[in-house]
Amino acid sequence: MTYINEHVLNNLFYMLVSIFFFYFLYDHVRFFQRKKAHQRLLLIACLSVPIILCMKYPIYIAPDCVHDLRQVPFLLGTFYGGWTVSFPLLLILLLARWVMYGYQFITVAVYVMMFVFGSLFSPIFQRLSRKQRLFASAVMTFILAIVATILAIVISDFQVTESYIIHFILVPPFAVSFVVLIVETLREALLVRSKAIKLEKMEVVSQLAASISHEIRNPLTVVKGFLQLMKSKDILAETREQYINIALEELNRACAIIDDYLTFAKPFPEKIEPLDVHHELTKVIDMLRPLANMSGVDIVSALMPAKVSGNAQYFRQCFLNIIKNGIEAIQNVGAVYVHMHVDERTVTIVVRDEGAGMTKEEIARFGEPYFSTKQKGTGLGAMVAVRIIEMMNGTWTIKSEVGSGTTMTVTLPLLLEK
Ligand code: ADP
Ligand code: MG
Repeated sequence: MTYINEHVLNNLFYMLVSIFFFYFLYDHVRFFQRKKAHQRLLLIACLSVPIILCMKYPIYIAPDCVHDLRQVPFLLGTFYGGWTVSFPLLLILLLARWVMYGYQFITVAVYVMMFVFGSLFSPIFQRLSRKQRLFASAVMTFILAIVATILAIVISDFQVTESYIIHFILVPPFAVSFVVLIVETLREALLVRSKAIKLEKMEVVSQLAASISHEIRNPLTVVKGFLQLMKSKDILAETREQYINIALEELNRACAIIDDYLTFAKPFPEKIEPLDVHHELTKVIDMLRPLANMSGVDIVSALMPAKVSGNAQYFRQCFLNIIKNGIEAIQNVGAVYVHMHVDERTVTIVVRDEGAGMTKEEIARFGEPYFSTKQKGTGLGAMVAVRIIEMMNGTWTIKSEVGSGTTMTVTLPLLLEK
């Protein structure tokens, strides 16, 4: 009897196909990337298929036991997903076994044991490096098979056959290790790709740089023109004054473009340090007070101490842009409210204004470079703010209604002090 026969290969085939399927869906369907729970659901679905198929087309059927590689997908799910994945898989496995071949107490005992020890091992497994995982998964599978055999012998007068030794004890460790190798390779490929996407973003930055220099050259050309005009002596004082004002306005515009752009162009902050959100936001609000007073806007803040990790200049730039937009959105009178709350893991900063609000289309384009509805807007402020939040591993949402105002919510990971 050849031990590595077509049934063994079939069993392996079911697993490999479902693993590819898992990564394909994970990569293409955003639903599965959004939350860990969605990912777990997908993992359970993709692993229960090979578990059932392995049992349906087993390697060898003896009167009192069925040999197949079902423990390979089961342990894979347990190692990578912990008990939250393992428990549903356990139920599916036992139910399928019961429906197909009838109830057997040994099976229940063996897989419950694997569930318990496998789940306990899972956190250790996840902390290992790639190479260690290959080895550790094989060793753990082997140990579990031995414990299962002892359990079966103690519970009943279980016959340890040659096929059992090969297919239940010796082949699975290799199979698990092999499948772990493939999982790790696919994972790495996805990781490299997401890094490539970031590089692509930098490409956009350099393209922006070109258009930015163009944007700045325009006002400078205007300024140059007016300065040349002013050189002539026979010019009225009034006209001269007018020219100076136009030139100054154009220079201000150039400054605004540079300010908004600079933070975005630098890919990474030089210095990452603990930031006191209260302190930094107070600075930003103080900086914006003159502008707010000029436009008859109140800035109302309710802040509390909390620490996040980041670069102070970037952080300030981010909230400067957001709060400034709030001030600018208010046409007559109104206020901008800066609130925050802190929970176990996050700091949430809410900037709400009583301004003009945004239409659905404007919300959709928020953060897009050069999108501005203002006469002298640069359309870069929101993009920079969003980019900084993402750099700090934060998330943001924007809610807005025309006529009633806009609320921007920024959530950043809390820096836990040791
Ligand atoms: P800019 O402020 O230079 O126009 P931004 O990138 O900061 O550029 O903002 C882009 C656009 O998003 C603004 O022109 C405005 O239409 C809209 N916007 C941003 N924040 C608000 C807000 N708080 N209320 C209303 N509209 C806003
Ligand atoms: Mg702005």
